[in-house]
Amino acid sequence: MNHFHKILVAASLFFAMVCSAQESREGNARYFEPVLDAEVVYRGPDVVFRKLGDRTWMGSGHVIASETMYLLEGKSRALLIDTGASIKDLDKIVKCITDKPVTVVLTHSHGDHSGNIGCFPEVWVAPEGNSSSGRAFRNYSGSVKSLSDGQKFDLGGRTIEVLFAPGHTSGSAIFLDPSMKCGFSGSAFGSGNLNLGTDLSTFIRTAKNTLSVMKKKKIRIMYPGHYFGDNPDTPERISAISSLAEDILSGKVKGTADPEGASGHTLVVRKGNLRINYSSERVK
Ligand SMILES: [Zn+2]
Repeated sequence: MNHFHKILVAASLFFAMVCSAQESREGNARYFEPVLDAEVVYRGPDVVFRKLGDRTWMGSGHVIASETMYLLEGKSRALLIDTGASIKDLDKIVKCITDKPVTVVLTHSHGDHSGNIGCFPEVWVAPEGNSSSGRAFRNYSGSVKSLSDGQKFDLGGRTIEVLFAPGHTSGSAIFLDPSMKCGFSGSAFGSGNLNLGTDLSTFIRTAKNTLSVMKKKKIRIMYPGHYFGDNPDTPERISAISSLAEDILSGKVKGTADPEGASGHTLVVRKGNLRINYSSERVK
């Protein structure tokens, strides 16, 4: 092989590498794209931010089932709900979208919702959600502040309210935006696919309380922590999954073994498009 041929081979190898990297990125992008007709305001390799409504954006990652964060802006401040799993320079990306100072809050401490807290100097999470077992928290040198139930974040002409929602974890929180008649529910109800981290009775209490608050505040829709564009937490969906939890608790419905169940969820119950993943010691 002469020198010219060597250059040709090297060049074609290089282009093949670039093309396959491009293909795999696009493949990934298709995989995590939510089905949603919404304006894209930022697209990078780790996250896509879309406009969800007035001064409201959603960011979709692609590490664990379109892990989703939400950015809300008021006249004086912005609120970032969850920080995704693995997004380089999330703070800089957020700054491209809003020039307001940002407060960071978490629906719970699991790694697909708290993965990038290191980009921010301060984070708010429910007291029992401040799990030191979470990798993001173990390595976090910023300030961890404890949310309280009913706490309000005044963003200037837009106030976001905290509603504790133990079930998926003991330290789960929902954020309500009465001005937009919506909420942000993290994994509290799993959009119909609930991973139960507390006792069933705790989750059932949370569902009842949330339904009553939603009714009082005329909130019909909550955007979940894994949003595909068609799976919001609605009162109907929350009622249905709560009824299924009650049926497990009463013994009317029995779970089947789930050998692939993650996080100690050895049992599963399916009904229509609902699913609860749990373990026998949670049945109380
Ligand atoms: Zn979680």
